[in-house]
Parts: sequence; structure tokens; C-alpha cells
Amino acid sequence: MTADHRARRLLLVHAHPDDESIGNGATMARYAAQGARVTLVTCTLGEGGEVIPPELAHLTADRTDALGEYRIGELSAAMKELGVDDVRFLGGPGRYRDSGMMGVPENGRPDCFWQADPDEAAGHLVEVVREVRPQVLVTYDEQGGYGHPDHIQAHRVAMRAVELAADPAWRPELGPAWRIVKVYWNRVPRSVLRDRLARAAERYPLVADEQDVPGVVPDETVDAVLDGADWVDRKAAAMRAHATQITVDGAYFALSNDRWQPLLADEYYQLVHGPAGSARPERDLFEGVEAP
Ligand SMILES: [Zn+2]
Repeated sequence: MTADHRARRLLLVHAHPDDESIGNGATMARYAAQGARVTLVTCTLGEGGEVIPPELAHLTADRTDALGEYRIGELSAAMKELGVDDVRFLGGPGRYRDSGMMGVPENGRPDCFWQADPDEAAGHLVEVVREVRPQVLVTYDEQGGYGHPDHIQAHRVAMRAVELAADPAWRPELGPAWRIVKVYWNRVPRSVLRDRLARAAERYPLVADEQDVPGVVPDETVDAVLDGADWVDRKAAAMRAHATQITVDGAYFALSNDRWQPLLADEYYQLVHGPAGSARPERDLFEGVEAP
């Protein structure tokens, strides 16, 4: 059976603008180009981020606190590079504020995402799920990949929304129940990362630690690999659009901590819900979704 790509709908749930391009830029560009509907839900504006270009340093939370607004523009430029036109902020832009890294005082702000009521936040996502009716959802693992509170909360909200969206008795005013077929978590296979970090160390004075990179797992945990060779240029362009957060240099990039890490062309996933495709690793997140 030939897949009708236009019937495919992919939903990605991320914490901050830039996470989608780093983790899934090639995947998003590929499915969008094939005609699938690609929807991104970003949970915060990333107001708590640091800023790399000195001329934009005034945007940070401790100065003009204008970074969130600015990052809406960066995200929209990044999505143009990926060919994705359906981008939403959970509950609307600014509904949930960036919580900052784990342990900082901002974690306690009543308006931050970490303090959000999970069912209330999931309700905003259920509304999107029931409208878009995605077959496949991509988000983080229960550690949020690397322990950032907003990433952990994005995981909780996404997983809760998968469950609630499928329950016809839960808030029927948000639309008819919808059951997502497959759920994936973002992963990076440890051997790939180690190899690439070793190569980065030959070029750059400082490289990232393994634990700085979200979602690193033993290779055998990876269930799906998306070949990004044809899409990595789009991914790099999208990452460059997040200029306050990312410096791109060929096949590597650095965040504001100046520690270099690989810009991965291939993207890796763990299947946590739904039918596995016939081959492992799967090469297409929609394998097994279209009924014969
Ligand atoms: Zn993030």
C-alpha cells in the first residue's frame, strides 16, 4: 500500500523555542515536505534563556525581560526554514512562563510552567489533539531528556493529554475523543554521541558532557531512526534562526555555555506506545499507522 502522506499528521510537544529544531528539525522538514501535517506545540516562550549575541543581551529576564517575545519571532523564522506552518504555544503565547533550570528561584513563580496544574495544562493540549487528530506524537522521556523542569512538565502534559484526549467522557466540549496511535520519545544513542563528541574535541576547546545532551540512551533503546541526510541543511538553518540560543558551525553547534556538540542529521526515537513497524529500527514514524 502506498501511504497517502497528506493523511499523515504529526504532533510534537516541546518546552522552549529551539528544542524542536535541535531535536526534530530534520524529521519535521521531511514530513512537511512529503505533505504531512506537522503541528508543533511549544509550552513556554523560553523567557529564562541566556542570550548569545552581545547586541541582544538586553533582552534577558534580569534586564528588559523581552526575550520571550523575541523568541516568538525566532521560532517563526525557524519554522519557515522547516516548511512547518502550524505552530502553537500551549494555552496561547505567554500562558506558561519558562521555569528556569532545576533549583533556581524561578521554579517557584506561580505563572511558571513547572507550577502549572497538569490537568489544566493538558486540557490546552487535548484541545489541539482533538482538532488536529495526529496519529503520531513526539515528546521527551520522564526526565525531560536531561532534567530541565519545563522539559519534565512537557513530558507529563503530553502523556496526560494522550490519555485524556482519547476519553470521550473527559471535557467533551473540547471536541470528539481522539486516540493517538503511536507515541515516541526523543533519543540519542550513546555510541553515536560518544563518537561525535570525541571528534568535536579535536576541533573545539570545550565540548559538551554526555549529560548535557537530552535523551541519551544505550543504542538498543532506539526503535526508530529518521535519515536526515536530505534535510540536515534545513535543520541547520532552523537552528541558526534561534540565534539568541544557538551558534551553528558546520556539523556542530554550541549553546550559550560555549560547549560544542554534534548537530545530528539523523534523529532517533524510542517507541513507547503503539504498534512497532516490521523492521527495527523503524525508518518511518508512521509505520503501522495506516491500516492495510
Ligand atoms: Zn528546552
